[in-house]
Formats: sequence, structure tokens, C-alpha cells
Amino acid sequence: METRVIFQSEDHIDTNVIKEAGKLIRAGELVAFPTETVYGLGGDALNAFSSAKIYAAKGRPSDNPLIVHICRFEDIYRICSEVPETAVRLARAYWPGPLTMILPKADCVPKETTGGLDTVAVRFPSHPVAQAFIEAAGDFVAAPSANASGRPSPTLAKYVLEDMDGKIPLIIDGGPVGIGVESTIIDLTQEEPMLLRPGYITREMLAQTLGEIDQDQTMMESNPTGRPKAPGMRYRHYAPKGQLTLVSGEARKVASYINEQCRLAHVEGHKTGALCTWENLALYHADEIDSIKCIGSRASQESIARELYRALRECDDEGLEVIYAESFSEEGLGQAVMNRLLKAAGHQMVEF
Ligand code: AMP
Ligand code: MG
Repeated sequence: METRVIFQSEDHIDTNVIKEAGKLIRAGELVAFPTETVYGLGGDALNAFSSAKIYAAKGRPSDNPLIVHICRFEDIYRICSEVPETAVRLARAYWPGPLTMILPKADCVPKETTGGLDTVAVRFPSHPVAQAFIEAAGDFVAAPSANASGRPSPTLAKYVLEDMDGKIPLIIDGGPVGIGVESTIIDLTQEEPMLLRPGYITREMLAQTLGEIDQDQTMMESNPTGRPKAPGMRYRHYAPKGQLTLVSGEARKVASYINEQCRLAHVEGHKTGALCTWENLALYHADEIDSIKCIGSRASQESIARELYRALRECDDEGLEVIYAESFSEEGLGQAVMNRLLKAAGHQMVEF
């Protein structure tokens, strides 16, 4: 199958392109599209065969449920059998936006879409191209991130093409995404709301709307005793092909450790890399490290979220085998950044 890539600016949406993309979804095909978080791989959420195609294209385990994307709040009542008042409050505060809510599913949502569960994940994205596309597609688009399973989520259309070329007919290229990490997931099916995956909508922000909320205890742990409540969080995720280690502590100590480790790995014949922030860039020795990558500024957690997956993909493109990264505070958006980094590193961390 030939995969076409068509550019769509947020400011001038070409209705013909969106109509064509919608038609493909209605015909049971898959289309990748931009959202404010990362690129999604979309299919008709109410068509079991489309969901099966998504799992096949990604190589995703079929017990890892998909997120259903909607383009107006009211549509939540068509795919959820119950919508608690907490969901309405959260929607008022953060929709459209990077927040996914887990709710009891209505009968029309096939189990193929929900990975066999009786609950469904729902999100109303804010990206104008995503909204137009969802409407053209018939209002309910099931979409996980548009990467091959296990690879970092795509933040640029070229990364979608890398993973999906020949597997899907169309990629809508909306340029670089704004946020760069996947949506926050909150489970509203239990007595107490529970954070299952940290994202741009932080725990602190959710607490402002709902009061103090629980979080899945397995979320930031290296050897979780329980099973993560979001099935997708069980899998090795977001990972570069090389071996990644996080290093935390005072900036100079971190940098000199990374310089030394990279020098040693280089002597052993490995290609090395360091992921660092602008503030500390000058501390790293270009003659000891094959590739030094800046992943944003410590002054802006947003910049780090936006750059992270691109940097991890570039590590693969450059064939880096031994990679070290600075580590970050888990406050605010830092929790999402550290959750992804810890997973990418298989929780390998050196602390000073
Ligand atoms: P992705 O879109 O690739 O980020 O994957 C969707 C994420 O949502 C995965 O981590 C899933 O496990 C999670 N998810 C989707 N539906 C549910 C659900 N019904 N209950 C819990 N987690 C879910
Ligand atoms: Mg994903």
C-alpha cells in the first residue's frame, strides 16, 4: 500500500483533504493525524475490524485498549453508559485538551476497541485539524499514538512515516506537535478518581477541580508490586534502541559522571550519547561523547516535554548504543517527563 502524506495547516484546513480522510475511516481504513499531544493512528472506534487493523499496524498487544477521540462534549453520552459529575467538571475545566477519562462503556463500543474491558477511554482533543477530521470520520475515532509498538510516540509526521510507511493509506501532516507527551489519563469508574498516566494536565491541576486525587501506585515505581491500571503502562514503552541511564544530582557531578562513562564506553567501542538541558550544555565534553543532544531548558518544563521523543528517536537514527540523560523534578509537568524517561530507561538511574 502506498502511504500518502498531506500537509494541513491549523489555520487553513482544506475541507477536501479532511473529507477524503473521513471517507477512508468510514470505509474501515486507518489515517494518522496530528493532535496537540502526539500523532494518533486513527480508525473507526465503533468498527471492530478497524480497531483490529490498528493493533496489526502498530504491532500492539490486543489487550492494550485504544483511546476514543470525540469532537464535541455531548458525544460522550453516546459511548459511555454513565457520565459522573466529576467527568462533567473535568470536561468544563480541561476539554478540549490533553486529558483522557476512563468511563463505563456503552454497548455500541466494541470490545476490540477497549482491549476487552467494559470501560472506555475518551478524549476531546483541542487540535483544530484533529477536530475536523474526527467529525468527518463519523464522530468517534479510536487512536493510540501513531508509532510502532515500543517506539517513542511520534511528534512529527516524518516519524509516523518511518513507522507506518506501506501500512496505512494516509498521514495528515500538521507540523510539529505542541505538547509532545501523551494525554493525562484519569480513571473515573471507581469511588475515588485515580490518575493512571501523568501528562500535560498535571496532578496538581486535577486536584484543583476534584480535590486531592489518588494515583496509580505503579506509575513511577521501578519494581511495581501491583499491575498498572492502564494496561498500556505495563509494556516497555517509549524506548530508544540503545541502553539509556538517567543521572540525577548536582549538575556538575552529573555531567562529569556522564563525560567519564561515555569516554569509557567509547573505549569499549560503543557509540555514546548524552541528553542534557541548555543550562548545562557547556559542562559536557564533545570530545568524549559522540552525540550531545539538548532536550530543552530547565526554565521551561514544556520545552522538555516537547523535545523528549524527538531526541530519543534521533538516538536510534544515529545508532547510539549507550545513552545518558539528565533527570528532572517530578513536580507539575515534570512528573510526565520523568514517567516517560524512567520507562525509556527501564528505571536505570544513578543518583549523586
Ligand atoms: P496510547 O494512545 O498509545 O497512549 O495508549 C492508550 C493508553 O490508554 C494506554 O496506556 C491504555 O492502556 C490506556 N487506556 C485505554 N483505555 C483504557 C481503559 N479502559 N482503562 C484503562 N486504561 C486505558
Ligand atoms: Mg502509545
